[in-house]
Amino acid sequence: MSAPMLSVENFGASYGAAQILYDLSLQVGRGEVVALMGRNGAGKTTTMKAIMGLMAQSTGKIRFDGHDISGKQPYEIARLGLGFTPEDRRIFSDLTVLENLDIGRQPPRKFSDGVPAPVWTEEKLLALFPNLGEMPNRPGGRMSGGEQQMLTVARTLMGNPLLMLLDEPSEGVAPLIVELMANTILELKKAGVSILLSEQNVHFAELVSDRAYVLEKGQIQWNGTMAELAENIDIQRAYLTV
Ligand code: ATP
Repeated sequence: MSAPMLSVENFGASYGAAQILYDLSLQVGRGEVVALMGRNGAGKTTTMKAIMGLMAQSTGKIRFDGHDISGKQPYEIARLGLGFTPEDRRIFSDLTVLENLDIGRQPPRKFSDGVPAPVWTEEKLLALFPNLGEMPNRPGGRMSGGEQQMLTVARTLMGNPLLMLLDEPSEGVAPLIVELMANTILELKKAGVSILLSEQNVHFAELVSDRAYVLEKGQIQWNGTMAELAENIDIQRAYLTV
């Protein structure tokens, strides 16, 4: 792998006196889809928040597209092109699909080596998410959970991110939407978007990811290719939801 897009090195993070992440290291290469896996409470969301600069108490180093982002403010990290789709879909319920998308709009970006990053427009996103394409003027509050999840992902893409942190996109949505979400992630990969995906479900991760890190009690317990994880029943039983 050439210099990784995202590199987390020996990272630790706490909420008050409670240490949540320990000596955590992971990497995401350009164009890779990497799954961060583990059961409820393993520390997946905390890892994503820490990468976005949302954990006040942290140690270790994080590099993103050649920049040291350790200790930087969330807005500075977002400005460098790191997109975050949180688990709790934060869409605006009074605004329409198109208005929600408009809120995420950022100019096109380049990687630090000058290569242009994928550029997204409303038109492209409404084609990528046909469900949204059918309801461009529907208020966010009148959409299903799965549709809201798609809108949250689409809004992050409006920022033309160099890399996306996607927190549990399959959580709590209907099976049909889970399938659509998996197809969408594969389309994003084809378009050259790098993704760190938080996920509990092995089957979903298997469909979309190149590699996986398995987390338990805030520590990486295993890492390898998705194909290796798919064959490793012991690791799946010990740490994951099969
Ligand atoms: P889930 O799938 O439930 O979101 P997760 O793997 O994302 O699980 P985290 O949400 O990162 O796990 O939680 C990791 C640990 O941090 C848990 O023990 C949780 O109770 C604790 N934790 C999370 N948020 C806070 C907080 N605001 N204050 C204190 N402890 C917290």
